[in-house]
Amino acid sequence: KVRVRFAPSPTGGLHLGGVRTVLFNYLFAKKHQGDFVLRIEDTDQTRYVEGAEEYILDCLKWCGLHPDESPVVGGQFAPYRQSERKAIYREYAERLVMQGHAYYAFDTAEELDKNRKEIPNFQYGQVYRGSLRNSLSLPQHEVDALLDAGTPHVIRIKIPADETISFNDMIRGHVSFETNQVDDKVLLKADGMPTYHLAVVVDDFLMKISHAFRGEEWLPSAPVHLLLWEYLGWKADMPQWAHLPLILKPDGHGKLSKRDGARLGFPVYAMSWFDAKTGELTPGFRELGFLPEAFLNLLATLGWNDGTDQEIFTLDELIEKFSIDRVSKAGAKFDFEKAKWFNAEWIKRLGAESLVPKVKTVLQEKGLVVLNDDYLLSVIDLIKDRCVLLADFYLQAGYFFENPKEYDLNAVKPKWTDAKTNFFNAFSTLLSNNEPVPDAHSLEAQFKALAEEKELKIGDVMLPFRIMLVGGKFGPHVFDIAALLGIKETINRIEKALE
Ligand code: GLU
Repeated sequence: KVRVRFAPSPTGGLHLGGVRTVLFNYLFAKKHQGDFVLRIEDTDQTRYVEGAEEYILDCLKWCGLHPDESPVVGGQFAPYRQSERKAIYREYAERLVMQGHAYYAFDTAEELDKNRKEIPNFQYGQVYRGSLRNSLSLPQHEVDALLDAGTPHVIRIKIPADETISFNDMIRGHVSFETNQVDDKVLLKADGMPTYHLAVVVDDFLMKISHAFRGEEWLPSAPVHLLLWEYLGWKADMPQWAHLPLILKPDGHGKLSKRDGARLGFPVYAMSWFDAKTGELTPGFRELGFLPEAFLNLLATLGWNDGTDQEIFTLDELIEKFSIDRVSKAGAKFDFEKAKWFNAEWIKRLGAESLVPKVKTVLQEKGLVVLNDDYLLSVIDLIKDRCVLLADFYLQAGYFFENPKEYDLNAVKPKWTDAKTNFFNAFSTLLSNNEPVPDAHSLEAQFKALAEEKELKIGDVMLPFRIMLVGGKFGPHVFDIAALLGIKETINRIEKALE
């Protein structure tokens, strides 16, 4: 059975690359009727950040990528938080020591420091081996004495010298590493907590993970993991790995970072993240007014296409069409303009009904009072094609809920005449006599007939009319606006503007 996992460390906000990792895992699982597991990798207490786990859960909820098993929903392999599984890992680390594939290392921090500075290649190979005083280099009775005395120690993997390790990555194909380039990584820390390397292998095994999509930045760790799978005797059950291409800066030069977002003025986090330590708020796609549908759609296209020109996909379509052979090895450039295009397309595509609650929130946050959902629905219908981000609904629709705050007087004042004042007074009177309520067509016909009667050019009164209603030179067809505002409100606005 296909079982995938997303295994974030709760260390801060979720970068768009992180959500893409979730998405690809999810798509693959759902395509193969498999399970999608969320496992929280929180064994590094020094990097643990309060609130980060909740944030990750909220993110998945917002995106609609619901785990089948997680610390919240549980599952047959619970617990799903590694800190709660602490007791499980030691046994495996000890087993590796017994087999000679790992060792106790007693080095103090100072010794390690010295070791690092003075004897970089002290054991074998080109790489820092991370230990001088260990159960391989000391006689057994000394090791026993140190252990008996409760000397603080870690367990490190013993990387063999002069070997080549390789595996088949689902995206990158054959990948190989020279063991002489790989450090003797710590597996179990002095506090008894496993490191990521040990925990990820043990849990992927125990949780019967069959496939694992993760970021390319984890590729250098793969040889350590491969050796652990082998040494623990689980090689046949090792998941198939897929290391996803990097998401690159807009100019293609290097990995997209949080700083690029701040520098270039776009979000890189899924949702806004507040760092309590620094007091820094990093804006997110959600808060900026992205729809989750658009966000997922744009993430899917960062490194994947279906082989056609199609760019807009629903989640169901993505599940149906996703295939690993169409995931590219090359990094994918992030283009914020394109990201916004996806959002605009999704706003157009989504029915106005489903936008009602979201737009309502946007307007209410700006202090507008929305009393009638049907009215809001008509407003959304009228203007949604003009909105790129949800926040644009305030700019494009605010005037449906309050008088224009300002008028673009430059557009009308210089050419204002008494004839125009007369025209609008007459139009107000005309409107107040309307029975039944006129639609946009009828309003337009009456407006034009009156202009003709008063010998005014249509263009000369149309723009002022718009500015009276909305405040500026924007918005949909002016008679659509008037019809939706209603006769009474239209008259009010004309009168207010003429004051
Ligand atoms: N805990 C790792 C992270 O924070 C997971 C890497 C993996 O998927 O193996 O990204």
